[in-house]
Amino acid sequence: MKNYHSNKRVLVTGGAGFLGSHLCEALLQRNCDVVCADNFFTGRRGNVAHLLDNPRFEILRHDVTFPLFVEVDEIYNLACPASPPHYQHDPVQTTKTSVIGAINMLGLAKRVGAKIFQASTSEVYGDPEIHPQTESYWGRVNPIGTRSCYDEGKRCAETLFFDYYRQNRVKIKVARIFNTYGPHMHPNDGRVVSNFIMQALRGEPITIYGTGQQTRSFCYVSDLIAGFLKLMASADEVTGPVNLGNPGEFTMLELAETVIKLTGSKSELVFKPLPSDDPKQRRPDITMAKAKLDWEPKVPLQEGLKHTIQYFKQYA
Ligand code: NAD
Ligand code: UDP
Ligand code: UDP
Repeated sequence: MKNYHSNKRVLVTGGAGFLGSHLCEALLQRNCDVVCADNFFTGRRGNVAHLLDNPRFEILRHDVTFPLFVEVDEIYNLACPASPPHYQHDPVQTTKTSVIGAINMLGLAKRVGAKIFQASTSEVYGDPEIHPQTESYWGRVNPIGTRSCYDEGKRCAETLFFDYYRQNRVKIKVARIFNTYGPHMHPNDGRVVSNFIMQALRGEPITIYGTGQQTRSFCYVSDLIAGFLKLMASADEVTGPVNLGNPGEFTMLELAETVIKLTGSKSELVFKPLPSDDPKQRRPDITMAKAKLDWEPKVPLQEGLKHTIQYFKQYA
């Protein structure tokens, strides 16, 4: 049967979302057969519309909390809403997606002998006491707060990945992704980059939560996807967790000022309450990714924001 499948067959869960759609495109460019599985909770068919004519591309409406039986060589498990307003909309479903979704995809990987990648997150570090964050840091996460469905769901998924690795010798690749932005983010996604750009383009006030002194490190999507592919292609002993993100660190006030400058907007800043458990600072230590994957981001914030602003103009 192998003769009929000379190309690598890859499953991308959450493939119609922001990151998933870029990943599907990159995999097709590398001549993979791609199965995109998505329940369209936050993803959109429009994100993959340009791929639908490609005979190597297949899209399944599927919720990863239910078992899935397909024959593939590699799995990228990205299914999970990533924006706080979306993952807090149905928090029980968010935990189920991370935990039961991980069990199902690991069960699938075990059955077919596939390598499996997990889109984990810098949220596993919570509101961190050490800065920048290294992979050896265990994190400071509130187990019962409004962000817990996401943070603890992702932490439990990491546990499952490492237990399937130890117990069943499944080949795992765990990436801890720091804030990433770019085209295909949903205009109403609720995350800071899409909010600020849409507000600036519409001339609406820019909503700064808290004082705006909290920091984040923003990675452009093309850099991140290059990191995904390098991690998947790395030697079997490279399991991660490995941080993938851009170490450039900015306050939310700096981000707002940059967006205003690049859009030429007349929007003013308005200050809104800080959501609970909002981390004060976040910046990846990417020493491990540099050493093990020979990966580091290349696109500076201003350049990535210009591409993203261009994309969002159609929605303003
Ligand atoms: P997104 O919301 O655009 O994409 C998530 C996709 O998963 C959507 O297409 C959604 O419809 C789908 N989905 C949600 N629940 C599902 C379910 N039960 N079954 C099947 N599909 C489901 O978000 P994104 O930014 O593309 O994030 C992708 C992954 O990367 C997520 O797992 C997220 O936690 C992780 N991540 C993203 C970032 C970031 O900054 N973008 C940072 C850290 C981690
Ligand atoms: N599973 C799946 N697709 C497969 C194989 C397994 O969705 O191709 C699911 C299966 O339904 C199970 C989960 O993955 O709930 C975990 O599978 P595993 O074999 O690890 O555990 P078990 O079936 O023994 O509970
Ligand atoms: N934020 C903000 N205004 C917004 C949306 C978010 O000031 O309109 C802040 C938010 O409080 C957080 C940071 O921007 O401190 C990043 O928020 P996002 O939801 O993008 O991601 P996360 O908090 O998960 O890193």
